[in-house]
Amino acid sequence: MRIDIVTLFPELCDTFLSASILGRAREKNLFEAHCHQIRDYTKNKQRQTDDYPYGGGCGMVLYAQPIADCLREVQRQCEEQGRARPHIVFMTAAGQPYNETTARRLASYDSLTLVCGHYEGIDERVIEAFGDEEISIGDYVLTGGELASLVVADSVLRLQPGVLAEEKGYEEESYWDGLIEYPQYTRPEVWEGRAVPPVLLTGDHNKIDAWRGQRSRERTRLRRPDLYEAWCESHPIARIPRWKRSERAQLIRTDAQFDAAAALLTGEQGEECAAARENLMAKRSAGWAFYLHSMGETPDALVGVCHKTGEIAQLFVKSDAREQGIGTKMLDFALKKLSEHGSPWLNVENSNTAAIGLFRRMGFVPDANEDKGENLVMRYCGKKTEKL
Ligand code: SAM
Repeated sequence: MRIDIVTLFPELCDTFLSASILGRAREKNLFEAHCHQIRDYTKNKQRQTDDYPYGGGCGMVLYAQPIADCLREVQRQCEEQGRARPHIVFMTAAGQPYNETTARRLASYDSLTLVCGHYEGIDERVIEAFGDEEISIGDYVLTGGELASLVVADSVLRLQPGVLAEEKGYEEESYWDGLIEYPQYTRPEVWEGRAVPPVLLTGDHNKIDAWRGQRSRERTRLRRPDLYEAWCESHPIARIPRWKRSERAQLIRTDAQFDAAAALLTGEQGEECAAARENLMAKRSAGWAFYLHSMGETPDALVGVCHKTGEIAQLFVKSDAREQGIGTKMLDFALKKLSEHGSPWLNVENSNTAAIGLFRRMGFVPDANEDKGENLVMRYCGKKTEKL
């Protein structure tokens, strides 16, 4: 890839592109970078690059002509190299917001040219004549486009093959899949009394991946609800994992099954367990049906459905059985049991990120009419799922 930056401060941009990871990659010719001085293309004696704005107002505006001539020179050089016509981006505070999706798109061009404004900006006519797009790196105003163009150059160039030491290292990072990254830790194991999460020391990569995925979704939901919404939308659970031979969901009828369900929910045998048992029994008397999931002999998940109201509750998967699709299967099972209801619904704690994510991806949406404070009511809106 060839990247060109058109600027009043080429040295500044060049220094950045020669340092650290990008500098090493540039030395290895993994990309080509050229920083052009706009002033070199002026045609007036004073080599002046800007003038007062028509219509008055404060500040100065960059002339169209030197920028246009500089861009023509970049186009000529690209043609001489047998490259495609460069994709030209003007860095402006009024441009489209920049993100990782745009970085990936820009990374696919063979030649990318970034134009930096300064003072009050650039004569609009050169943007109209040459610009393929305008990009803003955020909702704030910088004194010049250099930092913005370097942000774009850095995020685009790190995606070029060979630039990062680990091939595809960027695929696990924030925004790649629409989520922000899980927290990272390095030595020592305990720093100032703070220990590394134990799962990261197990060497069990399935467990580590599951933990990272869960933390990533949780962080995104808490810090960037906008991204999380979009992620759930774009990652529907369209396929229900296949039930294994040893797997079954049984209607709870016997005392022993109620004991097992209460123990599963509370993880113990004491008073709390007795209360949970009472609660399940009372609900059964009120028309609920509970199903216990087991893999072989051991119960590891539970779900309850109420045929009268269409409510689903007590969806619970034992902690060591999570991240295996059991929750998804049991929710699908519950929906099928309630097939007579147009939109089964459930109540979930607002803080239960993992459950909310699962429900959203299964086609549940928050019910705008039901504001229950710390709880969220979600209704199934009937997305189609298919068997794996
Ligand atoms: N008058 C302009 C406005 O109100 O939108 C701001 C001009 S700014 C002081 C000077 C230059 O900095 C712009 O021409 C642009 O190249 C760059 N710049 C400022 N903020 C930016 C942002 N958020 N993203 C990209 N470029 C920006």
